[in-house]
Amino acid sequence: MLQKIQLHWQILIALLLAVGFGVLFPEQVKYVSWMGDVFLRALSMIIIPLIFASIVSGVTGIGSSENLGRMSFKTISYYLMTSIFAIATGLLMVNLIRPGVGADLGLSMVVEGIDVTHDSFGQTLLKIIPTNIIDAMARGDLPAIIFFAIFFGFFTTKVDAHYREPIVTFFNAVFEIMMKITLFVIKFTPLGVFGIVAALMADQSDNLAAIFGRLGIYMLTVIAALAIHAFITLPLLMRLIGGANALKHARGLSVPLLTAFSTSSSSATLPLTMEAVESKSGVSNKTASFVLPLGATINMDGTALYQCIAVLFIAQAYGVELTLIQQLIVMITALLASIGAAGIPMAGLVIMTIILSAVGLPLEGIGLILAVDRPLDMFRTAVNVWSDSCGTVIIAKSEGEVLKV
Ligand code: ASP
Repeated sequence: MLQKIQLHWQILIALLLAVGFGVLFPEQVKYVSWMGDVFLRALSMIIIPLIFASIVSGVTGIGSSENLGRMSFKTISYYLMTSIFAIATGLLMVNLIRPGVGADLGLSMVVEGIDVTHDSFGQTLLKIIPTNIIDAMARGDLPAIIFFAIFFGFFTTKVDAHYREPIVTFFNAVFEIMMKITLFVIKFTPLGVFGIVAALMADQSDNLAAIFGRLGIYMLTVIAALAIHAFITLPLLMRLIGGANALKHARGLSVPLLTAFSTSSSSATLPLTMEAVESKSGVSNKTASFVLPLGATINMDGTALYQCIAVLFIAQAYGVELTLIQQLIVMITALLASIGAAGIPMAGLVIMTIILSAVGLPLEGIGLILAVDRPLDMFRTAVNVWSDSCGTVIIAKSEGEVLKV
């Protein structure tokens, strides 16, 4: 009977049931939260071998240095462009609605465990080059793994066929196997989502008052701006640049989008996104396996947009009027911070300290928005994943691929 209900409906039902369960039976949540842990661990288990094999197989598939250069240029410029659109939308909305004016500073929460990120942009860039790839893999350092995998894939194409062929076959095989494991794990998404969301609700119920109070307007500003970006800007780009149908694409992407929403982690969702983009939207493995992992690490439209609104909200709450130049600094640092943020829960909030210090705002300001960060993380992560997948479709179309969307 359950098998007859489509997976995305199963996930949606699990999500709603979990909200009720978490709020009504916070004490009992410990009996179900393990399902979320199992699901998240299974997804994490997949990521490193999947990304490594997928990039190597993608890059060897792309072939010549010219093709690789063109793909990288297109992918990175496209992702930068959408992040800039997202940031502009965020700035516009926060300046129009001004949710922070009159916010009660007394509601500020104590921030624990959030340190200023000391790394400059140069240092962050330098760290993309791993000193030890095994160590980078052990730490799950995606930018470093991607960097090495691109090199490895590229130079695989430069060696004798005698050496090249077994390597290409091997990594293609690893990729196929990891996708099979992904398909298996996907089946458990409703249970995983139930466990994660029930635990989250029980944990967050104290913050509900904040959501309906003054922070409600701030939340609505973020959600409205995210909606404009996800429902208007990205579909328009898909139509105008890619000639693709966003609605059809969205239907195929419902499982990864709901998972991104529930887990607040675009990295953990990556295996599911990859599966959906290939099997539902028809993007070739060559393109998806290069463009998507890059997107999951550098393209975070939702995060960039949210950071802009959050920083301006804090400025408004403290009664600080940011000049145009300062707003420009916010834009640029938000772009860099979103590139540097990892695809894990609350990464966007932690890395926002860079922006606050760049414009001289108090770091304690983060305490003001802490209460509602987790729910907002769910929305922005879904937008991050949606944007990565739209980018993959657009790049695939620009490479002349015939897709199902
Ligand atoms: N949770 C987000 C993601 O995984 C990052 C963030 O905190 O904004 O994409």
